[in-house]
Amino acid sequence: MSVTYLKRAEPRPPVESADLRDAVSIMLARIEQEGEEAARYYARQFDQWEGAIVLRDNARAEAAARVPGPLKDAIRFAWDNIRRFAEAQKATLNECEVELIPGHWAGQKQIPVSAAGCYVPGGRYAHVASALMTITTARVAGVGHITAASPPRPGRGMPDAIVYAMDLAGVDTILNLGGVQAVAAMAFGLFGTVPADILVGPGNSFVAEAKRQLFGRVGIDMFAGPTDSLVIADATSDPEVVAWDLVGQAEHGPDSPVWLITSDRTLADRVLALVPELIETLPDTNAAAARISWAERGEVILCDSRQEMAEMADAYAPEHLHVQAADLDWWLGRLRVYGSLFLGEETTVPFGDKTSGPNHVLPTSGAARYTGGLSVQKFTKTVTWQRTERDAMRALARATSKISRLEGMSGHARSAEIRLEKYFGEHALR
Ligand code: NAD
Repeated sequence: MSVTYLKRAEPRPPVESADLRDAVSIMLARIEQEGEEAARYYARQFDQWEGAIVLRDNARAEAAARVPGPLKDAIRFAWDNIRRFAEAQKATLNECEVELIPGHWAGQKQIPVSAAGCYVPGGRYAHVASALMTITTARVAGVGHITAASPPRPGRGMPDAIVYAMDLAGVDTILNLGGVQAVAAMAFGLFGTVPADILVGPGNSFVAEAKRQLFGRVGIDMFAGPTDSLVIADATSDPEVVAWDLVGQAEHGPDSPVWLITSDRTLADRVLALVPELIETLPDTNAAAARISWAERGEVILCDSRQEMAEMADAYAPEHLHVQAADLDWWLGRLRVYGSLFLGEETTVPFGDKTSGPNHVLPTSGAARYTGGLSVQKFTKTVTWQRTERDAMRALARATSKISRLEGMSGHARSAEIRLEKYFGEHALR
């Protein structure tokens, strides 16, 4: 394999994760013990929020009324695609029933969780799309009660467009809360919400750590780190489009890696020259984030063949993978490790981030090796059942008794044997 790094990531030393763990663990313990008062305290401390935590119906309607019509149209367009994609996913959920031995049936059912907590990030940007992605998918899955939370802006509460999107997607309860206090309130059922069976949605390191610590008590969608993106390009690709796509994803934050894998040296050199220039055309705060992301996390990798490029891409296990190269069908068939795949120059990761249908809550930091993104399936439990007629149970009971006795589990054996004795007068040899 002949691979050359034309630009390599130079990450800062990792932030001491023990500090983050301790800070979040103290907050969760305090909120669990002191309840709503502690959640309000943290909302004051971290978001300077003194107002109502639960958004009442009239506040929801007022917020929706303030959203400009064209923005509402765009949000409805995105919601429609996301909802219809989720409905298509729901149609793939399989139930089954099989007669394993005559008179003994086993089956599988799909049951949605009773309550979900959807976190909608809102510290740096107002993530309207995250409200649509999480709540719509939960609603289509058939979740009974959906709570959503997003950070309030000092003195104003959460942005109107987020409230509108939450309402449109079918939320039940909206909490003006961000960070650990939001996650804890949804998990513990504070402020009159139904305690969540599963917590979903992206968020910063405090949100991700709170979900990690609550996992087990509640389900979570996935362990999330900073968003990442990889572009595959060849001699047919447009370097300016590729460069903009890398810059757009670097804007997410200084910890967000962006990678380019290419087989074309000329394209690579052009992209290397363009990216720093394009970053400087962004607004100041976005440019600051993208500059660090590119300097410390950006990589450009030159490969000899498309087979080699595909192997490298699989090894990176990117959250977003965008192929802007010839023969898209070959890539679709060959690539195996990604959260969401974008095929061709006519699409782009921001379509997936905002409007195009498939979910944008995706596995980061290599988690694409073992999981896909948020889907109707994540809100649904695949459960099994079985039913056995009397004549069919004989074979099961005899085998169960033998295996249980070998394992030393005599109570299990007796449960089988009592049935053989009761129904057939059969006494097992011990
Ligand atoms: P956020 O809503 O996740 O976090 C803001 C909250 O953090 C605040 O409400 C505050 O309570 C809390 N906080 C801030 N400083 C704190 C401290 N010192 N101690 C305790 N709590 C503190 O918003 P964000 O910070 O902008 O992060 C959003 C994240 O979500 C980004 O990493 C972004 O990349 C990610 N994201 C990912 C996707 C995806 O699908 N992968 C989509 C959208 C956003």
